[in-house]
Amino acid sequence: MAAEDDDYFAKSFFEHVDKSVSQYVSELGEAVAIPSVSADLPRHLHDIIEMMEWTKDYISRLDGWVHLLPNPQGKDDHGHDLPPILLAEFKAAKNPDKKKTVCCYAHLDVQPAAKEDGWDSDPFVLTERDEKLFGRGSTDDKGPALSWLWVIEAHRKLNVDLPVNVKLIYEGMEESGSTGMFEAIQMLSKDGEFLSDADFFCISDSYWLGAQKPCLTYGLKGLAYFSVSVQCCGQDLHSGLTGGSVHESMTDLVRLMSSLIDSSGQILVPGILDDVAPVTLEEDALYDGINFDCEAYKDEINVSSVSNKLLHEDKKSLLMAIWRFPTLSLHGIEVR
Ligand SMILES: [Zn+2]
Repeated sequence: MAAEDDDYFAKSFFEHVDKSVSQYVSELGEAVAIPSVSADLPRHLHDIIEMMEWTKDYISRLDGWVHLLPNPQGKDDHGHDLPPILLAEFKAAKNPDKKKTVCCYAHLDVQPAAKEDGWDSDPFVLTERDEKLFGRGSTDDKGPALSWLWVIEAHRKLNVDLPVNVKLIYEGMEESGSTGMFEAIQMLSKDGEFLSDADFFCISDSYWLGAQKPCLTYGLKGLAYFSVSVQCCGQDLHSGLTGGSVHESMTDLVRLMSSLIDSSGQILVPGILDDVAPVTLEEDALYDGINFDCEAYKDEINVSSVSNKLLHEDKKSLLMAIWRFPTLSLHGIEVR
């Protein structure tokens, strides 16, 4: 398209988006109402599958190719089939072979949520308050997943060809360790398979820089997680009868865990920073121009109502801690 066509399309695209807000909200509401909680299987298995089918039907209505790939890990511990992985493709109508292919990733499952957890409204009923929409999965990650479909739909309705071929890979187990995704990606990356001709990948499951500013994330730190078990003896003991006579596992575990990180957030594991690239002056300067408000961040994560303290009070150290240095979180103790 010529530049003036681009401008014309951008204008009509945004007009179309503005006109379609109530449709988007109502469709997001339909998606949020499906409690596709992957941490609670098999209870919510049929909901994840329903969410996949809902998305598949949407894609079919847009004339996209769509397929539900059986989960490569097969069945769960209870013998039920694990949720499939959704694959879809929308080819550009004109010269698709000469156009780049963008593959977008998102997930259609959500974390558990209940009113008792402190929600002000039913988490599975998309609810508007103060011009904000509240509903489990509305931003993570059903909204972003649906946005790609709305982009395609806008092109269709405005009768404009896609500038690229678009592929989608949407999973239903992301919130539970992405069961089966690793195997699926390996399989689909082979020559001639679904992912092999993707030129770019876009992960639609990251975040905004504060509540006002969208951002493009072009790198992720990665994650390593471990669980530690400490056992002191072969049966439950009564603390009144045996306390003081044995090495207690909870005491040892707490001591072990507190040796990993100090209260200023410094990781105490030797060598943890050895492979971390040093901050260059150039990189350091990049942070100066970033529009980020530490006070708004405190409100957003609600530390303002408790201690009102962060581990780093200046923008640069705070963003570097979140984005580019290793962090260590302790996520829970289970007593058996
Ligand atoms: Zn997510």
